Order: sequence, then structure tokens, then C-alpha cells
Amino acid sequence: MRIPFVHNTLVIFMAVGLIILSTATLSFVSYHYTVGRENLAETSLVQSNTKLALYYVDQIEQKIVDNDRILMEMVDVNAPAKWPSMAEAIKKADLNVDQVYFLKPGSSYPLYPPYSYEIRNQWGAFRASFDVKELGLDRLVLDQPHHLHKELPNKYFFATFVLKEAADGSRILVCFQMNFDKMVALLDKGLRDLEDRFYVSIVDYENKGVYGQPISRSSKYFFETRFPSTLYKWILQVVPRNYTELEQEVKNQWRTNLFFIILSMSLTFISLAILYVGWRREGQLRQLKESFISNVSHELKTPLSLIRMFSEILVTGRVHGEDKKLEYYRIIHNESDRMSRLINNLLDFASLARGIENKHFEKTNVAQLVTKALEAYRYEIQKDGFELNLDAPPGIPDSFADPNAITMAFFNLLDNSVKYSRDKKRIDVRVRQNDGYVDLTVIDKGIGIPDSEQQKIFDKFYRGSDPSVRRIRGSGIGLAITKHVAEMHGGEVLVESTPGQGSTFILRIPIREAPRT
Ligand code: ADP
Repeated sequence: MRIPFVHNTLVIFMAVGLIILSTATLSFVSYHYTVGRENLAETSLVQSNTKLALYYVDQIEQKIVDNDRILMEMVDVNAPAKWPSMAEAIKKADLNVDQVYFLKPGSSYPLYPPYSYEIRNQWGAFRASFDVKELGLDRLVLDQPHHLHKELPNKYFFATFVLKEAADGSRILVCFQMNFDKMVALLDKGLRDLEDRFYVSIVDYENKGVYGQPISRSSKYFFETRFPSTLYKWILQVVPRNYTELEQEVKNQWRTNLFFIILSMSLTFISLAILYVGWRREGQLRQLKESFISNVSHELKTPLSLIRMFSEILVTGRVHGEDKKLEYYRIIHNESDRMSRLINNLLDFASLARGIENKHFEKTNVAQLVTKALEAYRYEIQKDGFELNLDAPPGIPDSFADPNAITMAFFNLLDNSVKYSRDKKRIDVRVRQNDGYVDLTVIDKGIGIPDSEQQKIFDKFYRGSDPSVRRIRGSGIGLAITKHVAEMHGGEVLVESTPGQGSTFILRIPIREAPRT
């Protein structure tokens, strides 16, 4: 069963709608999947970097805490006599300690080292950094190491201190002042492995580089963390050494994915556009074919009924006078001639549509061919009241052409000039040599062709849109055949026309010699 056209259109529109919807959904889903996947990859990379950095911070803290434990074991507040040797041993051990102080809370002078004129500057500087009142002694847990980390103008102060209770019940504060360079060396040792894959830096709260140059925070892969309890005024910063490549890789990946999403969407839309154009053209072609069939039937019917009518009159013997008879014979002859031209046109068109070409090329003189063709046709044209002028001078060179095809093309042009002329019945036919071509020009003073249609008229089945054209017999294939004839000779058909003033068609056939056999 044939689906009605309206239903067909509806089905096509629904199918197209579904395709667009599914493409848009697919693109949307793949876009989100891509973004999600990239975010996930990025997040897991950042997370693993973070973990690694925290691990190293932990290691360094652990090292300091381990040192603290050793220090705790090395001091004994109950043996003041041994304090000098204890302090010396501690300073010599690889524990980063610069000086050991034994202090009595509330006293302005140290228990050890004994205050003297020589140490007054050193003591003053120490007191400026290690202010016992600031520590809040009542909050300190006995025997537990604590840390003091301070940022002073142009230097850092770092100390481990512990509150101890002597055997006599008095409290003694032991402070181990650390050496800055040794602390940096400890950091250097602790971070060396990390530096293989990362740019590493340690900065203070003012972003001043303590170890390495401060790192820009702009990269997504940048990570920083504080040393939680020991060197708590300092911050460790890390960024992977290959962060620019990582960023570029993500960007490239992103671009590639976007490119493919856009490409697939564009391809779908282009295919749909092609389908749409094809569908529209098919619709137009179907309409053209339908009107072509009715036009051709009409064109065949008119001469056929004339032939029938006049032959019947002749057969019944109702015609008196030889002149009348002759006139009827001539009408029958002309009408059958017109029919045969139309049928030839149709046959030629059919073979053209099937891609078959029956070329019979031979040495042809277009001027002579046209002159001869007009001899037979002139009477009929002039009988319709036309002034027909032929200008085909001798001396036009021969061409290598198919004479039948050229005659047919010429008759199509001539026939159109007759059909599309109104009151000004004048047709000029010219043959000229022009720049390696023979130009066969047919000029009329007829209805002319609007600019917008001057290219379309060479399409098969196309007929002028003007209602006056529609009233004139025609099938819309004459100029398509003429164009094909021109092209199969390596030539072309040109048109110049002004609506209401007339048209000029030029059939250009190249001048060529017949190939020697
Ligand atoms: P047909 O004449 O059968 O319609 P053609 O292919 O010969 O088909 O011509 C196509 C269209 O070109 C015509 O329908 C008409 O609109 C226009 N045309 C062709 N020749 C002329 C002419 N000499 N003057 C005005 N219009 C013309």
C-alpha cells in the first residue's frame, strides 16, 4: 500500500526530529562523560600529589619528634654538676641543637649556662625570642616536649622545650635552641626524593622562601601544607615538575574530545541537510515530472487531433478544390512533422536521462545546416505572420559535429522563439564565426525571461513560472536537450533576455577538424 504523501512527510519529520534529539542527547552525554572523566583524572592526580606531600611533611615531623625523644633521654635535671657535659654531648650529637638552657621559671637568669659578662648578648637575644611568660607554663604537661617556632626580623627561632620536676619538687624548664642551617639541612635531606618529581619549596607566612624559591599558586596541580606541630610557621609547597605538560595534555584531550563531538554533530546535521535537500528536490522533480507527462500528452494530442480531423475530411471526399486539398495535406504534413520532432526530442531526452549518447559526428557546416533546415520550416513560420531573417554568410568554417543533434537543438530554439513571441513577430537567425566557435544565434522580440529564471530554464522539466508561459504548449525539456547537445560538442548555450523585450539564445559549437582516420 502506498503511504499518502502527507503521512510520508510526517514520518520523515518525526524521523528527523528523533535523529536530532538522539544526536543532541548523545553529544550532551558524551560531553558530560568527558568532562567528568577529566575531572576525575585530575582530582585523583591532585589527591595523590597531596598524599605524597603530606607523607613527606609527616616524615620530617617524625624525625624532629624522634630527636626530641633522644634529647629527653639525654637530660637529667637532678644532676646540675653534669649539665655542662650534658650540654656539650647534646651539641655534639647530630640533633641540630645550638645551645641548651636550664631555666628556673620566674627567674631572669639561667641556671645553666651560668650568667656571665661573656654570655650577656647571647642571653639577651635568647630571652627576646624565648619569652617564658608567653609560654603559659601552667598549661604545659610535665616531661612532654613542646616546640616554639618564631619568625623574627631577618631570622627564625626554633626550639624544643620541656618542663621537668626535680627531685626536690622544683620545676626546671629545659630549652634546646636549634640551629637554623642544620634545620634546613634536615629539610633538604628529608625532601630530596620528593624533588625528583616535584618542584619543592618551603615558605613562611609572608611567602618568603626559607628553602627554595616560592612557587606560583596558579597551577591546578599546586599544593601546600603547614608543618602541623614542629616547624608550624613554615609551609611546604609542591607542584609536579611536568605540570605544564599535564595542563597541556588535559587541554589537548579536551580539545580533541570537543572536536569529535562537534564533528559528529556537524556530520549528522550535514547528512540531514543533504537528506532534506534531496527530499525537497525529489518532491520538486516529482511535480515537474507529473506536469511534464500532462504537457507531453497535450502536445501530442493537439497535432494528432488536427491530423485526424483533416485526414477524415479528405477521406470522406468532402473537400472541393485542389487548393483546399493541398492546404489540408500541408497541415497534416506540418502537424506530423511537429509530432515527429517532439517524439525525437522525447527519445533523445530518454537516452540522455539514461546516460546513453548516440553521437554521429561528422564534418558539418553549421551555416549550411541551418539554411537548409529553415527552408523547410520558413513557410510555416511566415504563415503565422513572422518576419524571419537569416544571416548565415558563406565562409563559416566546418565543425566536427552531429548534424541531427544540432538541427534538433536549433529547432528547439526556433520553436521557443515562435511560441514565446506575442505581437512583435520577428525572428533573426545568425551564424557567425567567433573566437574558435561557430555561434548560432536565435533572436526574438517575445515575452523575455526574468533574471531569476535564466539559469533554471536549462534544467529538465523546468517551465517558466509566468502564467502566460503555462498557457503555451511545452514540456520543459527543449532547452535541457539543447544544453546537452552544446556540451557534448564541447560548446555551451548562452541566454540574454529582458522581460517584455525579447530573448537571444546563442548555441556555441567549437570549430574542429574531423580527426583523420
Ligand atoms: P518548454 O518551451 O517546453 O516549456 P524549454 O526547455 O524549451 O521548455 O524552455 C524552458 C522555459 O524557458 C520555457 O518554459 C520558457 O519559460 C522559457 N523560454 C525558453 N525559450 C524562451 C524564449 N525564446 N522566450 C521566452 N521564454 C523562453
